[in-house]
Amino acid sequence: MRVIGRGSANVLIDYGDPKWLWRCCIRWPDLLSLNNAYTIKNIHYIKERVEPLLDGLICPMELLDVDVDFIRPVLSTFISNLDEKVVKVIKIKNLIDKNTTNLIQDEHFLKYYCSGSFQSILLELKPKWLYYDTDYCRNCTHNALKGREAKYCYSLLLMNPSHLKTFFGDCNMYPDKFKAAMLEYLLNDSNVFKVLYDLQKKLAESTTSIKNLRSANDVEDDLLLLMTLRDVSCFIEWKSGENNLRVHIIDVDLKPKKKWTHWVKTENQLESSRKISHISNK
Ligand SMILES: [Zn+2]
Repeated sequence: MRVIGRGSANVLIDYGDPKWLWRCCIRWPDLLSLNNAYTIKNIHYIKERVEPLLDGLICPMELLDVDVDFIRPVLSTFISNLDEKVVKVIKIKNLIDKNTTNLIQDEHFLKYYCSGSFQSILLELKPKWLYYDTDYCRNCTHNALKGREAKYCYSLLLMNPSHLKTFFGDCNMYPDKFKAAMLEYLLNDSNVFKVLYDLQKKLAESTTSIKNLRSANDVEDDLLLLMTLRDVSCFIEWKSGENNLRVHIIDVDLKPKKKWTHWVKTENQLESSRKISHISNK
């Protein structure tokens, strides 16, 4: 058993089954029971609120009880007091198959994996804010604020699929069939970026905007859902010989309301920073 991924809120554990992974919440590093309670709330939120919106796109996942003693050697690094007998974990399908494990490009919001012979390629990406109601691009401006030099923008990609060229860069290693399949997918109106854009737009127009928040009580359920949809990860998989791309979404967790102060702080920083309407216009 080993940890193969770690964020501030979750760890991803390879427990020996190549097809599935365990995802454990570590938002509360002091007490397992708080993480367990959140995981139960989170899986209900995902199944009831998020999954129906992203019909067929959510990666298969289910709630599972794991004996604390079984997982203790790994989890005790992240949670100091394992105060319950079971750990509530989310069992999630492993989207990186055993043949597609070469990581050939690794950027902040974009990773490319491939098989040795480029017969299969997997993109892992975070589209972030595809819809924004400012006169500058939220993603490009936020990247600049953070000092990240991203050459690509998912919002621009949605509007202009020919921006895909920037994603491939000067690399000639990707098969033409893969590039053609990606372009065709982006030209399809039901691609994952368009689906997320439409949902983000609808929710942004119907809920209180971040700049108007004054307390946690102002954070509506729709705003939490919007913040979830602004932070998902997408996996796009291409296999030589298959016509369709396989697309899955993960990282669809419920955001704690207490994060509202962080959201407001970021908005204020963006408002007073150098505004960018897409990276190419810099
Ligand atoms: Zn942009």
